[in-house]
Amino acid sequence: MDNQFLYDAVEAAQKTITDLSDAIWTYAELSMEEYKSAAAYCDILEKEGFQVKRQLCGLPTAFSGSFGTEKPVIGILGEFDALSGLSQQPGSAQHIPLVEGGCGHGCGHNLLGAGALGAAIALKQAIAAGKLHGTVVFYGCPGEEGCAGKTFMARDGQFRDLDAALTWHPGSTNEVTTGSNAASLQVAYTFTGIAAHAAGDPQDGRSALDAAELMNVGVQFLREHMEKKCSVHYSFLDAGGVSPNVVQPTAKVLYMVRGENVRKAKALLRRVDNIARGAALMTDTSVTSCQIDGTSSTLSNTVLEELLQKHLEAAPLPAYTQEELDFARSVKATYPASGLPGHKTADYPKLRAFVAEKSENGTKAINDFVMPYVPDNHFEPGSTDVGDVSWLTPTAQFTAVTWTSNSPGHSWQNVSMGKTTIAHKGELYAAKVLAAAAAELMENPGVLVQARKEFDITAAEGYDCPIGPEVVPVVG
Ligand SMILES: [Zn+2]
Ligand SMILES: [Zn+2]
Repeated sequence: MDNQFLYDAVEAAQKTITDLSDAIWTYAELSMEEYKSAAAYCDILEKEGFQVKRQLCGLPTAFSGSFGTEKPVIGILGEFDALSGLSQQPGSAQHIPLVEGGCGHGCGHNLLGAGALGAAIALKQAIAAGKLHGTVVFYGCPGEEGCAGKTFMARDGQFRDLDAALTWHPGSTNEVTTGSNAASLQVAYTFTGIAAHAAGDPQDGRSALDAAELMNVGVQFLREHMEKKCSVHYSFLDAGGVSPNVVQPTAKVLYMVRGENVRKAKALLRRVDNIARGAALMTDTSVTSCQIDGTSSTLSNTVLEELLQKHLEAAPLPAYTQEELDFARSVKATYPASGLPGHKTADYPKLRAFVAEKSENGTKAINDFVMPYVPDNHFEPGSTDVGDVSWLTPTAQFTAVTWTSNSPGHSWQNVSMGKTTIAHKGELYAAKVLAAAAAELMENPGVLVQARKEFDITAAEGYDCPIGPEVVPVVG
């Protein structure tokens, strides 16, 4: 079919898409508290004629909307949760919180979800018009930032029956995402001791704080003996009371343990568990642990990535007005420029030359071009719950420009730009790319066969869900 039909359908839905992303920006709801956001999505999906399942997998803010009855079934993934401490006036090049200590969309999930929904609406139009044969399923995936909502959905059996899943993320480049991310496991360790007067009766006290500190020291020594691509981070959730003259009877430390894949992360976690037990033994305290969440490593799918690249290049790129460029420049001036854009630019001389020319040596305020596709085994040390989907069905994703070049992640600058026409243009472009790529999968089963072949090899180990049945999502 003609891509123009889908592009036009996105343009026709423009107001729905941008009004929605602006509303979600304003709600700025944290992980698993996205009640208003989820309701807004479900209302639109129902109005558009999708079959909507609210509270999917027993998660109050997860949902899906499907349209069509035929094969193949293509999933489009949307996110919509915000981040704490990032409240910011929209459209300002100065850091001015709207609400002191409030939340904001520093990761652009207001745009992510609305752009993805725009693609689903365009595909629905094409299916309803008899131009496409297949089913589109829009997944409302809550709590990406706070608790990896997709992992809970994956544990509950979602995504497995899809023929493929596609998504995108707001960013500073128009670029297919390749390579892999680390798997991650979050576990909270609670130490319990005995309170006592720190000077008068120290012999009667058992310090939970000592235990937590010794655990952290133990983990520092572990670092030398970890596999490559593993990492461990921690934070104190409870360091006991505020009085130094008390032997602290409680302490709680939150650990994030990452590995190249779930198997390696779980193996490393067993060693961290042993260190926690050792620390409790050393201090005559007790320790319990509770897993908070987990994500799998990401499996790339070069067949789908090539498809996304083709449609990133085919869809009309946004053009920017002088006013938009001036604003972008004033935002860019608020953080130090960090060289040429793109994750892999430094690694590939040919890519570096292309990007240097296109970005005017990294001085352009907006990267108004598509990065060439360079498939490789690039490993990102961070984690994403898209990884869990990628173990269940062939999955691919890209970034589209919604922010100035080299914009830092999770920043007030991204919140400030999240309601601008620059961001709107980016989410509409992303919607067109997603819609056209999904349409090609429906029309050309050969691409899906090839994508599945590759998936069968990369995912041969099978999905090892990083969370057990007892794990419940943390709210907030
Ligand atoms: Zn984020
Ligand atoms: Zn994000």
